[in-house]
Amino acid sequence: MVENLHSLVRDVRTGHRLTEKEAFGLMTATGRDVLAIAAAADEIREEKCRDDVTYVRNQNLHVTNICKNLCGFCGFGRRAGDEGAYCNDKAAIQQKARLAAGRGVTEICLLSAVHTDFTLQSYLDLLEWVREVVPHVHLHAFSPDEISYAAERSAVPTRDVLEQLKGAGLGSLQGTAAEILVDTVRAVICPKKVGYGRMGPDHLRGAPPRYSQHGDNHVRIVRIGSRSG
Ligand code: SF4
Repeated sequence: MVENLHSLVRDVRTGHRLTEKEAFGLMTATGRDVLAIAAAADEIREEKCRDDVTYVRNQNLHVTNICKNLCGFCGFGRRAGDEGAYCNDKAAIQQKARLAAGRGVTEICLLSAVHTDFTLQSYLDLLEWVREVVPHVHLHAFSPDEISYAAERSAVPTRDVLEQLKGAGLGSLQGTAAEILVDTVRAVICPKKVGYGRMGPDHLRGAPPRYSQHGDNHVRIVRIGSRSG
């Protein structure tokens, strides 16, 4: 049973922001406590958003599966030369973008592994290729690791990379591609990816992201993200 659940829910209903400890306590709820928390959350949702539901029509556009990281949990990434490894060229990217536009999407997500040879110019080219054929679709693209790698390979500060990509039509950045924003966990599941400690401030300020002992850290970091978005 969650300690002081009902007074905590009452406080939240009147504007209290949960502390990390309180948030973590709620994650341990079971049985009727879960229903009480769900009911309070639903009431707050109703007050803030009524019953309006918004959505985007999105299509993923895969650029390449050749990846420098080869994370242990991933079945997508390949080494260059592996069976099934690919990297789409301009013609293929534009054909996929046209196909997406023909389906009436409002957003294209350039979803990719972190290609060993890509530089900042590679990412600028990708945006330009899509913009050429579908200028009005929102572009949701590039993970923090792609941004970090482009900055490193091109010897350009991360902030400048973000500004150049934004200038070329980038609408919003993707999440972490591991979705765990705690470096000690990332060190186990995706050790070659940029850690939160490096990606956090620039990534979270650069463009709006949408998104255990580790649970409360994750909540705290997501909250920082929601403030900076
Ligand atoms: S960076 Fe992404 S694509 Fe590459 S191995 Fe890791 S999860 Fe897979």
